[in-house]
Amino acid sequence: TTFAALGLNDQILRTLGEQGYENPTPVQAQAIPALLDGRDLLGVAQTGTGKTAAFTLPILHRLAADKTPAPNKGARALVLAPTRELAIQIHEACRTYGRGLGQRSAVVLGGVPKGKQQRQMSKGVDILIATPGRLLDLVNERSVRLDAVQTLVLDEADRMLDMGFIHDVRKIAGMVKSERQSMLFSATMPGEIDKLARELLSNPARVEI
Ligand code: AMP
Repeated sequence: TTFAALGLNDQILRTLGEQGYENPTPVQAQAIPALLDGRDLLGVAQTGTGKTAAFTLPILHRLAADKTPAPNKGARALVLAPTRELAIQIHEACRTYGRGLGQRSAVVLGGVPKGKQQRQMSKGVDILIATPGRLLDLVNERSVRLDAVQTLVLDEADRMLDMGFIHDVRKIAGMVKSERQSMLFSATMPGEIDKLARELLSNPARVEI
């Protein structure tokens, strides 16, 4: 199949062409149509399968198509990642794939001073990529609001569990409105992640690579 057949917009298709992507990977071919339809998604996929584009492309497509302005400057899509490195990679992917679409993305991570992140948040952002601890910190001090979030992604959920972030993840998910699109990606499906998926996802499409 082709990216065009998956229903992505022309600007995204041009960018993918410039990136030298000829065809969607299996996880992309299965996930993108379901996500463009608004379905929730459970993705059992490792790094290296193209899962980052599988969730960022539909987010970018749907935000670009959504002409109603956000009610405030809060992010409309929120991606949670277990590590700083992964969060930075996802942010880079959003910038690359989102070229020409006018969506602003920002990354919020622990271990660095908060000032720059607070200033970025006050200016407004469309897609926010975050590690859970720093995000909760910024939410609690009211630098970040989550009430405009329509799409929630948990990436590498099994690593979030290993790193002790599951409680923070549940707390954050509880702050996002329940009428939303949710996605959970995990390389493995231990019982705790299966339970989390059943709590957070509603009738998800399941993609296993
Ligand atoms: P990920 O699994 O998201 O970490 O992606 C792994 C690598 O594959 C990244 O370097 C992407 O740039 C690349 N990639 C993702 N999708 C495609 C595709 N459809 N064609 C070629 N390369 C891709």
